[in-house]
Amino acid sequence: MGISTDKTELFRKLPSVDELLRRPEILSLSQREGQDVVTAATRGVLESMREAIAHGTLNPAAIDIALQSIAEVIERQVRHMVSYSLRPVINATGVVLHTNLGRAPLSETALDHMREIASGFSNLEFNVDSGERGKRDIHVDRLFSRLLQPYAGEQRGLSTIVVNNNAAAVMIALNTLAEGGEVIVSRGELVEIGGSFRVPDVMSKSQAVLREVGTTNRTRISDYENAINDRTRLLMRVHRSNFEIVGFTEQPSLDELVALGKKHNIPVLEDLGSGALFDLREIGIAEESGIGDSIRAGVSVVTYSGDKLLGGPQAGLISGDPELVAKIRKNPLFRALRVDKLIYAALEATLLSYIKRDFDAIPAVRMMRLSEQEIRMRAEKIVTALKDARVKAHLQDGKSVIGGGAAPGSTLPTTLVAIESEQHSASELANELRHAISPVIGRVEDDELLLDLRTVPPEQDDVLAAALKSLK
Ligand SMILES: *Cc1c(COP(=O)(O)O)cnc(C)c1O
Repeated sequence: MGISTDKTELFRKLPSVDELLRRPEILSLSQREGQDVVTAATRGVLESMREAIAHGTLNPAAIDIALQSIAEVIERQVRHMVSYSLRPVINATGVVLHTNLGRAPLSETALDHMREIASGFSNLEFNVDSGERGKRDIHVDRLFSRLLQPYAGEQRGLSTIVVNNNAAAVMIALNTLAEGGEVIVSRGELVEIGGSFRVPDVMSKSQAVLREVGTTNRTRISDYENAINDRTRLLMRVHRSNFEIVGFTEQPSLDELVALGKKHNIPVLEDLGSGALFDLREIGIAEESGIGDSIRAGVSVVTYSGDKLLGGPQAGLISGDPELVAKIRKNPLFRALRVDKLIYAALEATLLSYIKRDFDAIPAVRMMRLSEQEIRMRAEKIVTALKDARVKAHLQDGKSVIGGGAAPGSTLPTTLVAIESEQHSASELANELRHAISPVIGRVEDDELLLDLRTVPPEQDDVLAAALKSLK
């Protein structure tokens, strides 16, 4: 008897798809999860068994055991197929605005308002008073105006529009205000933000010509002035976001740039990036200016993200001179980059929290404002809960960072929970934690697993402690 005859025997032992689908446990699975998924999973499982036989990895001794558990394997496969790929995780990295972890969590009121607006019809573009067509912009423009007008002063008007993200905001602003013309930018600001947002590339895609001035470390106001010519459309300032230039450096202030723009009648566009609506000096961070600072300095148009320091949904905000903002609004690109009712609802609710000065309602802002003592008390509880666990935990002074391209040189003091194990390396522990039912993301430094509760909602402390207790 040759090997191929053995294999024929094994193939014969495999049930058919129909036979399997008629089994009571598979039938009830079909009723729960749908016939199509269960049939596909059954086919898939049989196919991989056939492959295993062909490759000789499923031998006569193993096949009977495999056949006994075939229904369970199919069920597991079905569960995988019908479960979400996008899942919540516990962010214990201490990076408040973590782009890979979805940036800002939304506030309760934002979630409630999104649900209310998305589950039915709304006045998104309908004026209930007049019964006529309305504009979606008004829902948040009125709130931005209220928040930012004090910085503009009574003489200047101010409008804000919303696009998909800040990359889109920069793109449409450049395309509207500088297509075919030159935009003057300092060489020290030609940054790459990550995720392929590079200032020179965005510039060329928006059909504007980049006019670099100065050097990487030093650019003077005279460099801008010398570059101005009759093709110049904009002076541009870009927030460096994820790096600092230190040492022998020079950069004109926003005030100087605005004064130069006024003198030559050229608008100033600022890509602020993160864009805070609360004063970061309150939490000891002096290096990061906010949206209000840009408006007060008199920039013509400023762009910023909705899901960074603002603490709202992904969006790109364009605030500034009403005439220029209206021009951007008329660009056909706006129709391609506009956002839907979910985003307006989340933004509206987030902005209302700022108007009420209820900063702690906005999760990202609350996390940044947490004191070291509050974090230490929670960290102590977790260490106490782990005293009989297999892993060892102790407290350690550390630093949280804001992330999202804000204040790259600043940190917030925190107390970390450091985890060690005799059997496993820190990266093995980190790996096991990522595979917990609620995946926990920590950071590994010097072969220690470090967890920062600043970015963990307090109501998840128990879940985190349970995941740590289950570590081997
Ligand atoms: C983050 C950032 C961007 C990109 O913003 P998205 O909202 O991610 O599109 C652009 N410019 C600067 C300066 C940034 O910090």
